[in-house]
Amino acid sequence: MIQDIAPLHLDNQYDPAARPTPHDFVLCFAGRKLLCATEGGALAFPTYAHVGGTVTYLFSVGEERYFLRRSDDPLTVDGFSYEDVGLFRTAQPRHRAYAAVTGFHLATWYGDNRFCGRCGTPTEHDGELRMLRCPHCGSMIFPKIMPSVIVAVTHGDRLLLTKYANRPGATRFALIAGFTEIGETVEETVHREVMEEVGLRVKNLRYYKSQPWGISGGGLLMGYWCEVDGADEIHVDHVELAEGAWVPREELRAVYHDNGISLTNEMIVKFIEGEA
Ligand SMILES: [Zn+2]
Repeated sequence: MIQDIAPLHLDNQYDPAARPTPHDFVLCFAGRKLLCATEGGALAFPTYAHVGGTVTYLFSVGEERYFLRRSDDPLTVDGFSYEDVGLFRTAQPRHRAYAAVTGFHLATWYGDNRFCGRCGTPTEHDGELRMLRCPHCGSMIFPKIMPSVIVAVTHGDRLLLTKYANRPGATRFALIAGFTEIGETVEETVHREVMEEVGLRVKNLRYYKSQPWGISGGGLLMGYWCEVDGADEIHVDHVELAEGAWVPREELRAVYHDNGISLTNEMIVKFIEGEA
């Protein structure tokens, strides 16, 4: 998956003493677009020597340190252009693509919290932690992480696949997915989302793996296996989904291969390989 960058590691600890050197990368976002270069197929970002000004330390990946330019005004830097964050699902090298989506998560959070939501005062960065603090009322604001589920519902040798309605570019099938709501356990999210999207009861929930999904602005996906409980007739919620179908393992085998990016893809491939 996109976060699997070993032997490298994304060290996310905030370092209040970190100061940019000329060769450190600076992530410069304008909305959902990031200033980058993809010449020769290798993703690169402008450095502090290109960008200058006030920047905030983000994280390091191996020897590479990343800072954030906390302004949405587009910059012009020779050899770099603004590209949509969706590009970084598949960009190489993988560790820089993962840095880009994690940077997007943090840039979104910083941008959304320039003012205290309680009293409206401009926030300030905490001196030690990755936290914004209101100097007037003391409110503490931590990065937003949104738990959500990816659910692979199986029925013997078949897997339930769905296709989203009203989502441009969603031509591929996916698994049931949705965000956890207030006052709900993750297991309850699994049951509710499956019932809402396809009208099925499920049993025998088994946790698989999780995946940070910065492209959505802060999702944390948790993958679950489960089996249909009782009737297997699908009733698709056409507001959210265009289609839902039980697909035999053999049909999936011809279409799906491990793309090394998403939890959804990995779970479908594991099912094909008979591991679920
Ligand atoms: Zn406040």
